[in-house]
Amino acid sequence: MEKPLSFTRLLVRWLMSPVFVLVIFLVFLAIAAGLREGLNQQDNYQIQANLNNEARALTDNLEREFLVHVQAIGRMAKRLSAEPQTARSEWSLDARNYLDDFGVYQAVQWIDQNFIIRWLEPLTGNEEVVGYNVAFNDQRREALEQAAATGHYDISGIIDLRQGGKGLVIYYPVGAGDANRGYISGVFRMEVLAEQLLTTRVLENFQIEIQDAGEPAYLLDSLAGVNSRFSASSAFELPTLNWTLTLRPGHDWVDAQRSQWPGVTFTSLVFMGLLTALTTLLVQLILKRNQDLLKTRKELEQEIDQRVAMQVDLERLESTDTLTGLANRRFFMEDLAHTLNIADRQMRQVGLVMLDLDRFQMLNDSLGHQFGDELLIKVSERLNGLSNEKILVAYSGGDEFMLCQQQVDDIDDVIHLLGQIKQCFAEPFEVQGDPHSITATMGVAVYPQSGLDADTLMRNADIALYRAKAQGRNTYQFYTEGMQDREVMRLELDKDLSQALANNEFVLFYQPQLDLATGEINSVEALIRWQHPRRGLLAPIEFIPLAEESGRITEIGRWVVVAACRQLAQWRGTPCEQLRVAVNLSGRELDDESLIDHVRDALASENIDPSKLEVELTEEIFIQNIEHNLNQLTRLRELGVQLAIDDFGVGYSSLGYLRDFPVDMLKIDRSFITHVTERHDDAVITRAVINLAHNLGIQVVAEGVETEDQLNFLKAHRCNLAQGYLISRPIPHEDLSRALAEGTLFTGQHADSGL
Ligand code: C2E
Ligand code: MG
Ligand code: MG
Repeated sequence: MEKPLSFTRLLVRWLMSPVFVLVIFLVFLAIAAGLREGLNQQDNYQIQANLNNEARALTDNLEREFLVHVQAIGRMAKRLSAEPQTARSEWSLDARNYLDDFGVYQAVQWIDQNFIIRWLEPLTGNEEVVGYNVAFNDQRREALEQAAATGHYDISGIIDLRQGGKGLVIYYPVGAGDANRGYISGVFRMEVLAEQLLTTRVLENFQIEIQDAGEPAYLLDSLAGVNSRFSASSAFELPTLNWTLTLRPGHDWVDAQRSQWPGVTFTSLVFMGLLTALTTLLVQLILKRNQDLLKTRKELEQEIDQRVAMQVDLERLESTDTLTGLANRRFFMEDLAHTLNIADRQMRQVGLVMLDLDRFQMLNDSLGHQFGDELLIKVSERLNGLSNEKILVAYSGGDEFMLCQQQVDDIDDVIHLLGQIKQCFAEPFEVQGDPHSITATMGVAVYPQSGLDADTLMRNADIALYRAKAQGRNTYQFYTEGMQDREVMRLELDKDLSQALANNEFVLFYQPQLDLATGEINSVEALIRWQHPRRGLLAPIEFIPLAEESGRITEIGRWVVVAACRQLAQWRGTPCEQLRVAVNLSGRELDDESLIDHVRDALASENIDPSKLEVELTEEIFIQNIEHNLNQLTRLRELGVQLAIDDFGVGYSSLGYLRDFPVDMLKIDRSFITHVTERHDDAVITRAVINLAHNLGIQVVAEGVETEDQLNFLKAHRCNLAQGYLISRPIPHEDLSRALAEGTLFTGQHADSGL
C-alpha cells in the first residue's frame, strides 16, 4: 500500500509545481489591479473635486460680473430717475459711453412704465425692437411690476432675442413705486457674454450647460466630446435668477487631471509579479536539478556500493578455492609474506606446514574424481576447524594443503598443531556412503630458521614433505639444513639418472627364494642397483621414486626385463638353470601400452620360456585404473608370465581383486613377518593370508625372513616360499651362481651371510 504523503511533503510538492508560479503571478496581478482601481478611484474623486471647484469658481465669477453690470445699469437708472427731463440725446450719449466701457451688451434701452421699449442704443441692428413690449407674458409682466414696485432689479431668464439668438436682459427700475418711470435694461447676447466672461481655458475644457428653473436653457459646447462620467453643477445665488450651471469636462481635461500612479503602480507590480514568478520558476528549476543531481548521486553511490561489494566478492573468489572454500595458494602466499613481516617485527616465529594426502592420487584414479572431490571437501572441513586468528588453512591444489601458524613462540606450538592435524585424520572419512581411512604426510618449515622469505619457506616445507613421504608416509618431517643438500642431491641424481641407462650403470642383484616344502632355491627376485659413478652403489629407494616421478621408470623397467631375460639365458647350462626370476614393475610401467610387446620381445630374443619370468606388482596396481590394468595383466598372464602381488597386506582391505586378477603368487609384506613370532595379530594375519591364498589357488611368499623362528613359523603354516636375509641378501649374479654351486645358501640347515 502506498504511504500517505505528509503535510510537509505535500507542501513541498505544491511549492515545486508550475501552478505555484502561476499563483504567484496571479496574486501580483490581482494586487496590481486592486491598487490601480483604488488609485483610479482616488483620481476620480480628485477630478470630481476639481470639477466642482471649477463649477463653483465659474458661477462665482459670473455672479460677480452680473453684479457689476447690474450696478452699472442701476447707476443709469438712478441718473434718469434723478433727472427725469434728461433728453434722449443726452441719454443716448450716456448709453453709448456705457456700451463702449463694457462692450458686452447687445443693447442698452429705456423702457417706459408700459413696458414698451422707447429709447435704445445702438440703434443699428436693434431697430425692430423699438416699441416692443417686454412684458410679453404674465410671468415677465409680474416680475417687471414687482421690480417697479420694490426698486430691485430683475434679470430675465435666457430668452429668444427679437434681434435673433439667445440672450439675457437686466431690468433696473427708474424710481420705485409711484415714482417709477420705466426701466433701464441691458441686453446681453449669450455668445458675447460667454466670450467676454469665460476664459478660453474654460471654453476649451468644459461643456457648460445653464439650466433655468431646472430646464436646460443654454448649452455652450466647443468640445469634440465630453467625458460623461464627470459633471459638476453649481447654482447662481442672484435674486430672480434661478440658474444652475453644469460643467462637463472634455476628455483632454480629464486626462490631464489623471495621475500617472495607477498605471505606473500597475505596471510595476505586474512586472514585479513577473519577476518573482520567473525567479520562483528559476529556483524551482534549480531545486529540481539539485534533486535530480542528488538522485543521480544516490544512484551512483548505490552503484558504487554494488561494485565495491562485487569487488569484495571477486577478491574473495580470487582468494578462495571454489571446491574447498579454503584460501587458495595465491592468497596464502600473500598472507604469508605479510605474516612474515609482522613476525619479524614481533621477533616471533611462523610455522608453515605442507600437507599431502597419502595415496590420494590412486584413490582419485580408481574411485573417480567425484570421490576425490568429495574427499577433499571433507578433509578441508576438518582442517578448517583448526583455523583461527593465528592459523590459516589453505588448499594448494591436487591433494596438498597448507597451514600457516602465526605467533609461534616455541617449536612445541608447531608440534601441538601437527598433533591437531593428525587428530583430523583419526576418524575415517565418510565419502560416497563408505568410511575411508585416510592419512596425511606433512613437511614443516619454521621461520626464520628454515627460510627468511615466503618462497624459501614454501620450498623448504616442500622438501621436508618430500622427505617425509620417502620415509613411508603418515608422518611429518621438519625441514633441516641438510635437507637442502639432499634436495640438491636429488636434483643432481635426477640429472645423472638420465645418463645412467646410456652409461650402463644399472645392475641387477638377485635375492633367492627358498622353497619351504623342498628346501630348494628355484626362484630369485631381481632387485635393481645403480652403480653411481661418484656415489657408489645406490639402493632402489634412492632413485626409483625419482624415476617414477620423471617417467624414466618405463625405460628402466624395460632394461630390467631385458637384463633379467639375458641373465636367464646366461644361466642356461649352469647350476642356476632351474631358477625363475621375478622382476618388479611399478604402476607407471603398467601404463605403457607397449609393455606386453616389449616383454614378449625380450623373452623371444633370449629364447626364454615365459614361465621362467615372474612379475611383481604392488597392491595399488590392483586398485587403481582397474580396467586398464586388468587388461594389461591378463595379456601378460596370457604370455605365460607369472604374476605376483608384492608387499601384500599394507595397502587395501579389499581382497576382491584377488578373485578378479590372474594372480599366481602373493608376497606377504615384511612388516607382518618381522614380528610374526612375537605379535599375535601378525601371526593371525599371516596365517589367514596363507590360508586365503591357498584357498584361491595362489602360492605365498614371505618377505623379510630374518630368523629361523620366523622360517619355522612359516614352514609350520605351509607358506610356500621364504625370502629374506636369513637365506640371502640380494647379491650379484656371480655370487648367486657361486653360492648355488657351492650350496652355501641357507636352506634351513645352516646360516649364510650373503651381501
Ligand atoms: P621389494 O620388491 O619388496 O623388495 C624387497 C626389498 O626388501 C629389497 O629391498 C630387499 O633388499 C629387502 N629385503 C629382502 N629381505 C630382507 C630382510 O630380510 N630384511 C630387510 N630389512 N630387508 C629385506 P631393495 O632391494 O632396497 O628394494 C626396495 C624396493 O625397490 C623393492 O621392494 C621394490 O619395490 C623396488 N625395486 C627394486 N628393484 C626394482 C626394479 O627393478 N624395478 C622397480 N620398479 N622397483 C624395484
Ligand atoms: Mg619385490
Ligand atoms: Mg616386497
